[in-house]
Amino acid sequence: MFHSTNHKSPEVNFNEAILQGQASDNGLFMLNNIPQINKELLTSFKEYSFREVAFEVLNHIINGYIPDNILKDIVYHALNFEIPIKEFGSKNYICFLDRGPTCSFKDVGARILARILEYILKIEEKDIIILTATSGDTGGAVAQAFYKKKRIQVIVLFPENEITNLQRKQMTTLGENITAIGINGKFDDCQYIVKKAFADKTLKGLNLTSANSINFGRLLPQSIYYFWSHSQVTESTNESILYSVPSGNFGNLTGGLIANRMGLNIKKFIAAVNENDEFPRFLKTGNYTKVEPSKECISNAMNVGHPSNLARIFDLYGGQIDENGMIVKNPDLNAIRNDIVSFSISDYRTKQTIINFYEQYNSILDPHGAVGWAALQKYRKYYPEYNSIKAICFETADPAKFPEEISPILQIKLKIPLSLKKIQTKKEIRLSIEINDYHDFKAFLQKKYIE
Ligand SMILES: *Cc1c(COP(=O)(O)O)cnc(C)c1O
Repeated sequence: MFHSTNHKSPEVNFNEAILQGQASDNGLFMLNNIPQINKELLTSFKEYSFREVAFEVLNHIINGYIPDNILKDIVYHALNFEIPIKEFGSKNYICFLDRGPTCSFKDVGARILARILEYILKIEEKDIIILTATSGDTGGAVAQAFYKKKRIQVIVLFPENEITNLQRKQMTTLGENITAIGINGKFDDCQYIVKKAFADKTLKGLNLTSANSINFGRLLPQSIYYFWSHSQVTESTNESILYSVPSGNFGNLTGGLIANRMGLNIKKFIAAVNENDEFPRFLKTGNYTKVEPSKECISNAMNVGHPSNLARIFDLYGGQIDENGMIVKNPDLNAIRNDIVSFSISDYRTKQTIINFYEQYNSILDPHGAVGWAALQKYRKYYPEYNSIKAICFETADPAKFPEEISPILQIKLKIPLSLKKIQTKKEIRLSIEINDYHDFKAFLQKKYIE
């Protein structure tokens, strides 16, 4: 069963948690009990394929809600790409989560959630509309993942002038059940419209739901690659290692914390953030203040001034924080500090890291992975006593998605992966009407889905 992190709405089962996306008291759904994976199974992961690990991890949590053969099928089709791991220097590894169709780590969560939702909707004979605001990366991953999924309509709102051509095309070239709407405004304006629609009782009949990492179904698959990468680099399940996680909304990190509670041996999480430093400041002082408005850094998918998954992290450590960033109950700060360290990396340091990494290894990091790598370097410098411990840093996007940032720094032309190349020449489908505020958007929803 799942409870809301705000503790003011009823407990729900797995299906409900996924279908609702967010609890009615504006909290996030969290597991009451996190099931353990026994040592024997953990040990056998070394011989398993990535998909086999994925099935076991998901099955432990989903626990019968989806029949084995169907879950295997979901995993097989969702995870149709590689997750390579490579050592750079001594004991430092990079795990590449950027090999999915939209070249973002969000493909992992979105593609599994899409298929789980499609299955639940078939059983429950329901239809839903997924509403997502995006600053760039989420929209593409969600649109591609839910393309042609039955009983699901997807509407993505994006800031027309703040995303790259490639990011826009990942959403606008699909058609079918995917509607992408460019708003003449900022990401915050898109987010505002989405939140208002979720809260609008007159739209209840539309079954609006979310595919952001506030949905537990997006989060859960993100614990899979911790198990997988751990099994790939360690000698045995007893070996404890470090993870450096480029973080914005902290969904990726929360996936790791869940893996840790399930029994995976992790020495420390390094929560790597850009100049939006609310989390490292909280760890240091115990006081929480959002960064408002959020800072615009070159790792733009991490420009988050108040991470929504903080509610889940507080919950895991016995505390409570509401959706506005108000601490209701203090978590066990020492226990958090024991598990997580956090570093804020400036844009200057991020660029320097991209240059140094290229010179040293002749490989290119994207700005998000570079934040993770820089934070790992910082950790290595401050804690030399742990130098013998292996570390994995996640690369969360393909550098070719950020030519505007990387090309001027490295003075090179980036190689574009095939999946992105294909999108470049596709025809875009754009709405003929303008939607610029909630009033316009609601009228559009009513005309399209109610009349
Ligand atoms: C979303 C995103 C992140 C941040 O992940 P969170 O789960 O929000 O912390 C990091 N890198 C890239 C490329 C992303 O798209």
